[in-house]
Amino acid sequence: MRWANLPGLAKNALRHRVGKCAICGKRSLFLVFETREARHFRERLHCVFCKSVSRNRHVAKEILSVFGRKENSIQEAKPFLKTLKIYSASSGDALHRTLGDGNPNFVASEYFPDVPIGATKNGVSCQNLESLTFESEAFDLVITEDVLEHVADFEKAFSEIHRVLKRGGYHVFTVPLLLDAPTLERATLENGIVKHLLPPEYHGDPIRGEILAFRTFGYDIFERLAKFGFEAKLSQTFYQDTLRYAIADSHVIVSRKR
Ligand SMILES: [Zn+2]
Repeated sequence: MRWANLPGLAKNALRHRVGKCAICGKRSLFLVFETREARHFRERLHCVFCKSVSRNRHVAKEILSVFGRKENSIQEAKPFLKTLKIYSASSGDALHRTLGDGNPNFVASEYFPDVPIGATKNGVSCQNLESLTFESEAFDLVITEDVLEHVADFEKAFSEIHRVLKRGGYHVFTVPLLLDAPTLERATLENGIVKHLLPPEYHGDPIRGEILAFRTFGYDIFERLAKFGFEAKLSQTFYQDTLRYAIADSHVIVSRKR
């Protein structure tokens, strides 16, 4: 924890929580240290041990649930999870650190603008979700957290994820989601040129600084997923999750390849 975080920690004194971490498995303290007004906790409540945020732990909980695990953390279920072929379209997060270490079955990727697609940089694969370099039916589980809103052609991305999943495999993912409106197309990419349909919205990215959101998905995402051959359901958080696991204000889509 950095000294610069102290004002935020003090401001949010009543928002910190204790509970069990669904990733590192520790009884932990979950901190809110951002000074911006906290409207939701989806990307907050940082575990002091593994640095996971609410959304990461919600994804972890759904992964354990879809594979019918009794363990309630990724760390505890590691012997089983290491037997699965897993692809996560992000790297360096708590899940990658917990499951990826020395695990040949776990592939983490980023989109590095300076690395050829399919090549690796520091052990992380460079991938474009619109044209993955993996073989078909290679994975039991694909994880994308807040990535698909940044992909210009999400239909290609869903069809690629469907292709690389084994039959019955799962795509567990998060996107900013409007539950009371259809998908809002914010921008398109035409011949390599971005055309803005709405005032541009950028999200922070650890590698590229900030990246454009091409859309905000809405409730029609489930219908679209069905067309690609997925059976999808929405998992929302309940107050019990907040109390036990410090998971709050989050939603995860669990999509199974039929
Ligand atoms: Zn943790």
